[in-house]
Amino acid sequence: MEDQQNNSRRKFLKAGLSQHKDKKPGDTIKLLSPDGQIVEVDSSFINPHIPDIPVSHHNVREGVPGKKFVMVIDLSKCKNAGKCRSACSKMHYLPKDRSYIKINKMQDSEKTAPYWMPTPCFHCDNPPCVKVCPVDATFKLTDGIVGIDNNRCIGCRFCMVACPYSARVFNWDTEYQLKEEEFKNIKHHAACSSHVRGTVEKCDFCPSKTQNNELPDCVNACPNGVFYFGDENEDVVSNGDETVRLSQLIRDKAGYRYLEELGTKPRVYYLPPANRQFPFKDAQPES
Ligand code: SF4
Ligand code: SF4
Repeated sequence: MEDQQNNSRRKFLKAGLSQHKDKKPGDTIKLLSPDGQIVEVDSSFINPHIPDIPVSHHNVREGVPGKKFVMVIDLSKCKNAGKCRSACSKMHYLPKDRSYIKINKMQDSEKTAPYWMPTPCFHCDNPPCVKVCPVDATFKLTDGIVGIDNNRCIGCRFCMVACPYSARVFNWDTEYQLKEEEFKNIKHHAACSSHVRGTVEKCDFCPSKTQNNELPDCVNACPNGVFYFGDENEDVVSNGDETVRLSQLIRDKAGYRYLEELGTKPRVYYLPPANRQFPFKDAQPES
C-alpha cells in the first residue's frame, strides 16, 4: 500500500516534469497553490530542476523478525570516557563534537555522590514522539527500534517537543551532509538516521549493525563495559566482554527505567551507580 503511494507520488512528479518539458515560454502550467487553489503560471517561471527524491524503504519498517532489542547501561562503570560518543559520531558521519548520545553529570541529592549518565534514545515501546508525527516519518519497528525516515520528515519538530528525554536533535546546517558515496553505503535500512538539513535525527541503535547480529558501535567502543545490548526475546545481553541473562542482570543489580512513571516504556534499562570501584572525576573526556 505504502509502496503504491510512493509510486503515485513519483508518477505525479514525473508527470509534472514531462508537462513542463513540452512547454514553451508563454505557455501556462497548472499548479496547486499553498492555499489549495489551482493556479496557472507562465512556464518560463518554473524551475525545470526536479530533485531526485529518494523512495523510502518502507518494507524494512517491519524490523528484524523475532527480535526485541534492548539496552542496559551500568552507571556504576561509567567514567565519562566519551568513547561511545566518538564511536556514535563516526558511525553516523557526524562532526566529532556531536553525537546522538549525551553523557550528563547527575547528582540525586546534596549528600550523595555524583555520577555519569549516558543517554541515547530509549526506543520507547509507547513512544510519544511517534504519536505526534503528522506525516508518519517516525515509526516503531517490530524489533523495538524507533526510526526516522529523513526523506519523509518535514522538520515540524513536534517529536522533539513530545520526547520527554530530549533524545532528538534538529539538523540546522549543511556542513555534515553525507557525501553521496557514503550515503549509498549506509542508507540500506529505513531506521538509520541520515542527514537531511531541516529534519530531525537521533540514536537509531545502529540498525545496519543490529540487523546483522552485531553490537551497536557505542557498545563496542566503551572501554569500561558500560553498555549491554541484546534481545529481550532471548533474554540475553552482552557488552562485548561478557554475555549475561537480561532478566538476571536487572533483578540482581536493581535495574530500572528512567522516568518509568511517564508510561513511555523505554527499551533502555539503567543499573544504579552503586559499588563503584573508582572515584568520580569531573573531567571532560578526551576527544
Ligand atoms: S526516547 Fe524520546 S525520541 Fe526516543 S523513542 Fe522515547 S520518546 Fe521517542
Ligand atoms: S520533525 Fe519530522 S519526524 Fe518529527 S514529528 Fe515532524 S515530521 Fe515527524
